[in-house]
Amino acid sequence: MAYQSLNPFDGALVQAFDTVADAVLETKLAAAQSCFETWRHTPYAERARIIAKAGELLAARTDTLARLATVEMGKRIAEARGEVAFSARIMDYYATHAEAFLAPVRLDPAGGEAHMESSPIGVIFCVEPWNFPYYQLARVAGPHLMAGNTLVVKHAGIVPQCAIAFEALLIEAGAPVGLYTNLLISHAQSDRVIDDPRIKGVALTGSVDAGRSIAARAGRNLKVSSMELGGSDAFIVLGDADLDLVIPWAVWGRMYNCGQTCCAAKRFIVVDSMADAFLARFEAALGALVPGDPLDAATTLGPMSTEQALLDLVAQVDGAVAHGARVVLGGARIDRPGAFMAPTILTDIAPDNPAFRAEFFGPVASFFRVADEDAAIVLANDSDFGLGGSVWTRDVARGRRVASRVETGMMFINNIDWTDAALPFGGIKDSGYGRELGAMGIQQFVNKKLVRLHAIPAPA
Ligand code: NAP
Repeated sequence: MAYQSLNPFDGALVQAFDTVADAVLETKLAAAQSCFETWRHTPYAERARIIAKAGELLAARTDTLARLATVEMGKRIAEARGEVAFSARIMDYYATHAEAFLAPVRLDPAGGEAHMESSPIGVIFCVEPWNFPYYQLARVAGPHLMAGNTLVVKHAGIVPQCAIAFEALLIEAGAPVGLYTNLLISHAQSDRVIDDPRIKGVALTGSVDAGRSIAARAGRNLKVSSMELGGSDAFIVLGDADLDLVIPWAVWGRMYNCGQTCCAAKRFIVVDSMADAFLARFEAALGALVPGDPLDAATTLGPMSTEQALLDLVAQVDGAVAHGARVVLGGARIDRPGAFMAPTILTDIAPDNPAFRAEFFGPVASFFRVADEDAAIVLANDSDFGLGGSVWTRDVARGRRVASRVETGMMFINNIDWTDAALPFGGIKDSGYGRELGAMGIQQFVNKKLVRLHAIPAPA
């Protein structure tokens, strides 16, 4: 069964769903296309009424929706509540600002007058990951629906109930049939959706492997796409950093969502003068986390999303060790029921170790000791990824300088509060292309059309 709710805390099967038959898929695509023909002309105020209402419903249902996410993919309940609340803010943000973001822009040509206008392009196909089962949906639904497009969405196989709940919210908010459609489909059906001429754009958030497959398919069809892929963000600690500020953020940055966050802090790069103190305190703080039921608000360490994700991560750690890495903390699953991985710190990761370039999607921190600021930047940039990163220093000017030299889509100075409805999110290199959120996020799937008026005789 491709779509299964399996509670990773206790392994219980909550519910399973079949993929839809091709004939049902066809009906849904036809409805999305038909809805586009009216939605594209629906005034912003009417679009905003529905999208804002969906945001209100999200907020009103926070506890129920959060519980669903916790049961399906193990997110600790307080984090799940925070995610739902933030998803509501994203919907509200685009309901409020979309019209201004897409307003015509006057240009200044050498003769006559001209402007750019923004119009929707059609049905957009979105493929989304399980790690933020609502936030990832809000990131596409808020902007692209407000822009006048309609969406068909393939969510991850392990969060079908979250996917269905989000679609139901939009319908309850007044969305016309076909505006937002959840698709329980296989990868093969997904390929056919990308090929379908009614689909005009493709957005993926997921792994690099999925990105290569889906971007290639979209490219072959000459369809615009955005790719939000993995990351291996550097957490750079300079010699003048305040460790009392740094350590709690280091723990949060690695452990939030049980480490299963694209822009989590993954490579801890610490200058020599700070390295011993940082490592000792980081190890103590990670070692103090206690595994438990993610539905219990007192739990400090939840399970990973699935048993398979845990097994893959353990195998990755074993591989790193086989290639010379040293385990300072953890390194194995926790001996108890459920998909629990011990918080882990790896050191001595040489450049020829596969772990040096890998993404650890779980509670595994890679620690690197470097001589100075320049060496930290060189190491941070020696990565196939380029999503985010952070720098920690008491000298803000120095922090800005380092942030400018690190080659990623996002850099944070003395915090890693990664995301805000108003801030564009995305990366470069293997982390993908395009941006979600902010004013940029709504421009991804619109036609930027030039209109010029210049009534002069044609040149002879
Ligand atoms: P994944 O395996 O790529 O899955 C993500 C989504 O893509 C799921 O819906 C999955 O469906 C679908 N998918 C995968 N391969 C596909 C294919 N060939 N055809 C059609 N659909 C396909 O990713 P994951 O490992 O679950 O998620 C974690 C990854 O996402 C990490 O690398 C993380 O860094 C990245 N991520 C990036 C961002 C960002 O904004 N940059 C945010 C969150 C996560 P199934 O579940 O049915 O396979």
